Amino acid sequence: MPNKSTFDPTLLDFDRDHIWHPYTSLTNPLPTYPIVSAEGVRLKLEDGRELIDGMSSWWTAIHGYNVPELNEAANEQLSKMSHVMFGGITHEPAIKLCQKLVEIAPKGLKKVFLADSGSVSVEVAMKMAIQYQHAKGQPQKNKFMTIRNGYHGDTTGAMSVCDPEGGMHHLFAEFLPKHFFVDQPHKRFEETYAQEEFAQLEQFFRLNADKCAAFILEPIVQGAGGMWFYSPDYLKKIRQLCDEHNMLLIADEIATGFGRTGKIFACEHADISPDIMCVGKALTGGYMTLAATLTTQHAAETICNGEAGVFMHGPTFMGNPLACAIANKSLELLLNSNWQVKVLAIEKQLKRELIPLANALSVKDVRVIGAIGVVEMNDAVDVPNAQKFFVSKGVWIRPFRNLIYIMPPYVIDEQDLKVLTSAMVDYIS
Ligand code: PLP
Repeated sequence: MPNKSTFDPTLLDFDRDHIWHPYTSLTNPLPTYPIVSAEGVRLKLEDGRELIDGMSSWWTAIHGYNVPELNEAANEQLSKMSHVMFGGITHEPAIKLCQKLVEIAPKGLKKVFLADSGSVSVEVAMKMAIQYQHAKGQPQKNKFMTIRNGYHGDTTGAMSVCDPEGGMHHLFAEFLPKHFFVDQPHKRFEETYAQEEFAQLEQFFRLNADKCAAFILEPIVQGAGGMWFYSPDYLKKIRQLCDEHNMLLIADEIATGFGRTGKIFACEHADISPDIMCVGKALTGGYMTLAATLTTQHAAETICNGEAGVFMHGPTFMGNPLACAIANKSLELLLNSNWQVKVLAIEKQLKRELIPLANALSVKDVRVIGAIGVVEMNDAVDVPNAQKFFVSKGVWIRPFRNLIYIMPPYVIDEQDLKVLTSAMVDYIS
């Protein structure tokens, strides 16, 4: 039962009238729920009710909230320094983090650029690819190929490779650079492709590769563009075509990285290494914003032997020590845990409890990979109503478009996960 709220209601009035929340209107905003604290897998509302978190705060909080080890790492680093510029200065938290990333990254990714958010790490990846081709004497290779229904962030470069419809490209037509979009892979994660099914993709490369620096994609899981899980064969084929056409492959592992799909990086499902890889989100266990762009020795050397002689990027908060210290502890917690067992158990339970929903008339498709469960509805979900329903059931699930999906913290137990899936079942049936 709700307690009497101690939350000043005028704060909510100000929030509604003055503060933009992600993808919302300021004239007709969606309702927002005030959260006062979070612990384990539970978010606490201002009236005392607790919600089991199905979203991991948008793929980030893999260890849950208020994690003693992460708190301690943050406090310890705070008592030394929370930030210091990275130009001409270095520090142990950043060095240790980059060492660990190089150690666990797909083969060949040895050089690390620390960025301050996922979108920025995508901008960095795109700039690396452009500088690479320029340094190779191919400045005309300055466009990108990508997959429809992709999502890579909201900054300009990242947005230009997001799905044109989802990203509302027509609104920004005069502003956004134009790139080359290929249809979404139609085969599911469990399915295989025959070589002849790639004829169209091969043609797409033949027609456009001479203008393209790189292919950018989300490996295996297309997230915010539609939560679609595709066949590893497709990823292998793109790797092969990039090699044949002198293009780099950029893998955006910002959502998939750090175990979410059952592998540390989703590229491992196809046993490929990209030339450039972006990570973010779960990197700090959801505590702070931090991202990284990794690349190969060859790409880094080529870039640095080019006209600029350097890589042309350097954000103010690059390598923030506080974020790096927390990321180090988060990676230590993850890698020293039995995360594969946990993610596999979540996957099995999600399959058991969500796949039967595929029989419901209102449901188009149900898919599960690792610790991600997706129910695709035939029609768009009424988000405010659905959210209200889920809150009344004691869970935090935020649908978008026609998708009701969860990706809980890995530390969730069977009972709490059952509460999440039961709420989905109740809403749908
Ligand atoms: N790339 C992918 C695959 C994402 O899912 C996201 C965020 O949802 C981003 C990039 C952008 O990251 P950020 O929101 O940290 O800028």
